[in-house]
Amino acid sequence: MKEGYTATIGLEIHAHLKTKTKMFSRSLNDPFHAGPNANVSPIDMAHPGTLPTINKKAVEHMVRIGLALDADIANFTEFDRKNYFYPDIPKGYQISQLKYPIVSGGKLAGFDLTRIHLEEDTATSKHQSDHSLIDYNRAGTPLMELVTEPVLHSAEDVMKFARELQLLLRYLGAGDANIEKGEMRIEVNISVSKTDKLGLRSEVKNIGSISSAGRATEYEINRQIEVLESGEIPTQQTRGWDEAKGITVFQRNKEDSKDYRYFPEPDLPKLYLHEIFDLEKMRSELPELANQKRERYVADFGLKSEDIEAYIGNLPMALFFEATMKGLDKSNAKAASNYITSDIVGMLKSDDLKDSGIDVWNTLDAKMFAKLITMVDGGDLNSRGAKDILLEMIQNGGDPEIIANDKGLIQENDVEALKAVVQKIIDNNPGQAA
Ligand code: ADP
Ligand code: MG
Repeated sequence: MKEGYTATIGLEIHAHLKTKTKMFSRSLNDPFHAGPNANVSPIDMAHPGTLPTINKKAVEHMVRIGLALDADIANFTEFDRKNYFYPDIPKGYQISQLKYPIVSGGKLAGFDLTRIHLEEDTATSKHQSDHSLIDYNRAGTPLMELVTEPVLHSAEDVMKFARELQLLLRYLGAGDANIEKGEMRIEVNISVSKTDKLGLRSEVKNIGSISSAGRATEYEINRQIEVLESGEIPTQQTRGWDEAKGITVFQRNKEDSKDYRYFPEPDLPKLYLHEIFDLEKMRSELPELANQKRERYVADFGLKSEDIEAYIGNLPMALFFEATMKGLDKSNAKAASNYITSDIVGMLKSDDLKDSGIDVWNTLDAKMFAKLITMVDGGDLNSRGAKDILLEMIQNGGDPEIIANDKGLIQENDVEALKAVVQKIIDNNPGQAA
């Protein structure tokens, strides 16, 4: 970044929550997979006479997310109507939360969070040449919105935060958080300043991946620096990321929350979360989270960070590694991990396996794999033989010892026997030996 400037960044991230049904109705929460307008009910459309009900599972996900982030879980919480007119919002308002978000404070990846509230997603529109089509399958599906404090300072911070949030939602089983599918959406608020006083921010939307979030941040920081350098002051704006051109483009001047005429949703009950949920029990039942796993893998197995990150991003592979280690000594951890993260992962991409559809982390027998590692460690197999056997085990299962015997791959380990063989070779080939 140009000398003398500081970039300040705050994120707003929306993420779908995993539930059977929508946030306020019994329509299926299946926003992408069904044909258009299959999962729509009169409640989703706010037809007269219908009343919404709160999906408890969605609230529970929020509470668990808050607990995992060491945040405050509100006791009192309520929903609000956020009023605006747009074809993708069939009710004329979105049910959201303004004053009393379920989660406040907390930290992720070292960055302070402001809040996380619960709301419903909108419909999706497809624009044709002379008309638009609207699919309401997504309308009313549960959505969390997380807001950070303006405490990030670079494209790297943005990408790191987004990755860690993705991991958190997946580890908690709260959401799949695939940005490419629209299950997680990142908006980056960026300002640049030469002084202690923060500049006016622009909010960048339409970001389609974590790396795009990084590129958009980089671009926007430089754009604002150029504006300042030209003697002008950046104004508060909403901008869109143009992936093809690699630039942000002006969309509109930013709306204020007063434009939305928020008021408490009269058709839903207020919630007293500390009475509904046993927070201490829920806290004690949280699964191991990414950072805890990182620390444990260092302490228990002494793995290198590259391997650890591979496991952090691939839970089934991590579980396979852990199952393997149940049958092995810690001293074999690095070797086992190397076979997993490099040999097996490599084999999965090879011609032998790439189209096989084998779900290796669930089908390969970890006990048998541990036995293979023990055989290599004991010198019964060389690494070439071990790889052949491993491929056989991935494709057809089986016991590595039996496969090794069948294929004649057991190595001779008896030093005296080997000496005799070597001596015989030397004796039979005096010329070469000389
Ligand atoms: P809105 O909903 O209008 O976008 P919020 O108050 O929820 O506004 O803030 C949105 C985000 O903007 C937050 O993540 C916050 O940290 C960030 N933000 C606020 N002021 C600045 C600033 N001057 N520079 C960068 N980011 C900012
Ligand atoms: Mg915003």
